[in-house]
Amino acid sequence: MNKRELKKFKIALEEKRDAIVNATGKKPHWENMADTRHGDFVDQASDDNEIHVNLKLLQTDAKLLRAIEAAIERIENGGYGVCASCGGEISLARLNAVPWTSVCIACKEKSA
Ligand SMILES: [Zn+2]
Repeated sequence: MNKRELKKFKIALEEKRDAIVNATGKKPHWENMADTRHGDFVDQASDDNEIHVNLKLLQTDAKLLRAIEAAIERIENGGYGVCASCGGEISLARLNAVPWTSVCIACKEKSA
């Protein structure tokens, strides 16, 4: 993979990372929790559900965030676009679709 392509993927990965950080960084429900506790009990129930959903989202984002950061590291240190499982090249089409992936489509399908 040439430098220009690597740079393109790095920018895409950084943009995705920033989008996640910005989205999770807001975390409105944690900051508003103190206030909602003083609200009436009918509201409280729906707030608890929303917190649960947000937590689930946060866990997914954290996993994705780690994968994105690892991919950015591979771009900087070399090894980006190389399958972590078989050592083969990951196709550009696959990297365009999932730039933070660390395995080629064949290995992904084998493990699925
Ligand atoms: Zn592979």
